[in-house]
Amino acid sequence: MKILVLNCGSSSLKYQLIDMDGEVVLGKGLCERIGIDGKLKHSGKEEYAADITMRDQTDAIRIVIDALLNKDHGVLNSIDEVNAVGHRVVHGGEYFSSSVIVTDEVKKAISACVQLAPLHNPPNLMGIEACEKLLPGKPQAAVFDTAFHQTMPPKAFMYAIPYEMYEKYKIRKYGFHGTSHKYVAQRAAALLNKPIETINIITCHLGNGASVCAVKKGKSIDTSMGFTPLEGLVMGTRAGNMDAAIIPFWMEKEGLSVKEVESILNKKSGMLGLSGVSSDFRDIEDAKKQGDKRAEISLDVFHYRVAKTVGEYAAAMNGVDAIVFTAGLGENSASSRAAICEYLGYLGLAIYSQKNSVRGQEIDFSAHGSKVRALVIPTNEELMIARDTLELISN
Ligand code: AMP
Repeated sequence: MKILVLNCGSSSLKYQLIDMDGEVVLGKGLCERIGIDGKLKHSGKEEYAADITMRDQTDAIRIVIDALLNKDHGVLNSIDEVNAVGHRVVHGGEYFSSSVIVTDEVKKAISACVQLAPLHNPPNLMGIEACEKLLPGKPQAAVFDTAFHQTMPPKAFMYAIPYEMYEKYKIRKYGFHGTSHKYVAQRAAALLNKPIETINIITCHLGNGASVCAVKKGKSIDTSMGFTPLEGLVMGTRAGNMDAAIIPFWMEKEGLSVKEVESILNKKSGMLGLSGVSSDFRDIEDAKKQGDKRAEISLDVFHYRVAKTVGEYAAAMNGVDAIVFTAGLGENSASSRAAICEYLGYLGLAIYSQKNSVRGQEIDFSAHGSKVRALVIPTNEELMIARDTLELISN
């Protein structure tokens, strides 16, 4: 069984072709600058890169199919070898609590969620429609970033604003990175050799976008991102939680428009705004080593906020068995993991520094006798999408 996994963004498209017998990645790559000019980076039998015009998602997917079939760098003899396509879809609103096979009804619901994710859902939908044209008759699955969090109870997802705002506009917490949180939580249970239904896990997806999730007995019961991916932790360029009153104050003082404030909070805040150095944690860690005070403070703020959120979720679940670190920073930065774990001694968590310095692989870096396990688990959203797709077509 071969599954093509597509993650269609507004100007980019990431893909992987996975052979589910053994879960082996046969080929993968990235189309960039879609609608501008077009660049393909493909890795299959051989590495291949080319500048090719891509007017839209349909062009990009056609180019991906050609790359997969190419006799030099491709990995397929015929497109018939692909059994199904799995799409990452960012927002499923309250419609989807699990992955689904794409139908006309599903497409309508994804369209209805465009107002909740205006930058993401339209290209996701375009990718689905392009595949209907280019791969007619192939089953397609939609795997939503929000679906895993649909198990949150109202006490976790309701904002304390007039209830009509929820009824009228569906303003509530949705949460994101669900595919990643689900994948690493399942891997954590497997590594700990315990049924996921018997343990509580806190998953920390710490990358350019960052969120924490409370996974109680296999189900998300709370997460730090909200109505949009702006809420929660400090991120590369996103502000995360702040007093909402800052916004009108700031707009009045600086004469800013709604769009301007939105752009500053999403693109110029977070680690970039705080440090003044970069949105990339590596640059900030380097600047701190050079004695840059703002860089040091921004890292302190980041670690403190992650640790506070972990504390909230430990309380929400009345205890935690394992804390998982994943994504760019979570997988690679031993110093950030150590700084966060230092706050968590009261939970009975102790780490083993030597194991914490291991990079890019699954590891339990908790000390012998630690009451809470501390794990690094590299995330694999593509594999999770492929697994869900396989399960749907098998049923
Ligand atoms: P992601 O969004 O998951 O791709 O994560 C990207 C972020 O991970 C980058 O902004 C980096 O700051 C961070 N990152 C990646 N590798 C390292 C590393 N070796 N040390 C510290 N941070 C890293």
